[in-house]
Amino acid sequence: MKQQNISILGATGSIGTSTLDVISLNRDKFRVFAITANSQIDKLFLQCIEFNPYYAVVANESDANRLHDMLRTKEVDTEVLYGAESLAYVASHQNVDMVMAAIVGAAGLLPTLDAARAGKKILLANKETLVVAGDLFMRTVRQSGASVLPVDSEHNAIFQSLPEKVRLAMANGKWKTEDYQSSGISSIILTASGGPFLDTDIDIFANITPQMALKHPNWSMGRKISIDSATMMNKGLEVIEACHLFNIPADLIEVVIHPQSIIHSMVRYIDGSVLAQMGTPNMCTPIAYCLGLPERIDAGVEALDFFTTDALCFRAPDIERFPCLQLAFEALRLGKDAPCILNAANEIAVANFLDDKIRFTDIARVIEKTMSLCPLNDDIFSIEQLLQKDTIARDMAQQIITDMIKNDE
Ligand code: NDP
Repeated sequence: MKQQNISILGATGSIGTSTLDVISLNRDKFRVFAITANSQIDKLFLQCIEFNPYYAVVANESDANRLHDMLRTKEVDTEVLYGAESLAYVASHQNVDMVMAAIVGAAGLLPTLDAARAGKKILLANKETLVVAGDLFMRTVRQSGASVLPVDSEHNAIFQSLPEKVRLAMANGKWKTEDYQSSGISSIILTASGGPFLDTDIDIFANITPQMALKHPNWSMGRKISIDSATMMNKGLEVIEACHLFNIPADLIEVVIHPQSIIHSMVRYIDGSVLAQMGTPNMCTPIAYCLGLPERIDAGVEALDFFTTDALCFRAPDIERFPCLQLAFEALRLGKDAPCILNAANEIAVANFLDDKIRFTDIARVIEKTMSLCPLNDDIFSIEQLLQKDTIARDMAQQIITDMIKNDE
């Protein structure tokens, strides 16, 4: 395998850090071209010392100057850049072979789209790209010759469980819905752990604190996605993500609760077979799979021990307990830019919950109200239109929260 240059967008986050962990085990195969962060400058500094990238990108000029000065004292010659244009630069640079898209939220959308326009191999963790702009993004992938490999553990598991010809076509955005039948696929099955409140008394949901919601039973993740897992919005976003990624209608997607998170997802075939991908719940596995493809590389992950693993259990999702999942299906049904509105309202609601401004149960209320008030656009031609809708929906969600707090006083 020729050494590959990689830009890691969101290097200081949970996925970004795991990506660097896998790379550190496979230094002969990968050269870190660029790393980016928003505010964790000290962490980015340590990553620069360890991986000596050509570029480090931060959000603003003062952080860039600070990082530059810190690096010079250590005689590290990484060039420090800042701002949205610099993110686009390292996502699309001609010397970059692959891009890890691991910025959280809609902020990750533009640089991921830049990587797609430049025809890069994209290791896609940022699910919001597909939720907000799925059609546009996949169209860009098809037109530019870029490829997309799913990092999200469920989509990665599905990808691994698909026939090889499907995998190849899918990565290039060339897979058609009709092809499912001819390949003998009857549905894809997304597994969900159910998060920390799967069996919690529903009457105490309103008293759930951010600290309680951040404690995922199986996975160690960033703050926003941890809350999404607790509300099961994460599974809703993943259903939308899967529709675009696998070019599959929502009615061919099943959601199954599997609390142990050992089976990461499955594909059901017409002959009755169900193929699953299993493993210890650790994001380094799907990251290593995407980095190494077509080879398997060391992920530094503990082997799955069948003899200390709990029984594997499955149950149907409870929509009453997790209304966010239902809202995501509703956004899919509405189509147009409804998923963009859903995502924006969710990001605002989660941020307010993490700041102790609203209750856990208010998250779904804010999203539902925003979706009912925000008008849908019939035609979406451009990313600018979607970003405009994203701003409108965020403002609306914030206003709903302000009114909610006032009414509670
Ligand atoms: P984290 O919050 O841990 O990290 C987010 C990264 O994005 C950090 O590097 C952060 O920088 C950077 N960032 C945040 N805001 C901005 C911004 N406005 N502009 C530029 N950079 C920004 O997130 P995760 O690693 O958990 O998740 C990343 C993505 O991967 C999400 O879309 C998530 O849904 C998806 N994902 C995550 C999984 C997981 O296990 N964590 C599993 C599957 C998907 P800084 O650190 O400086 O703030």
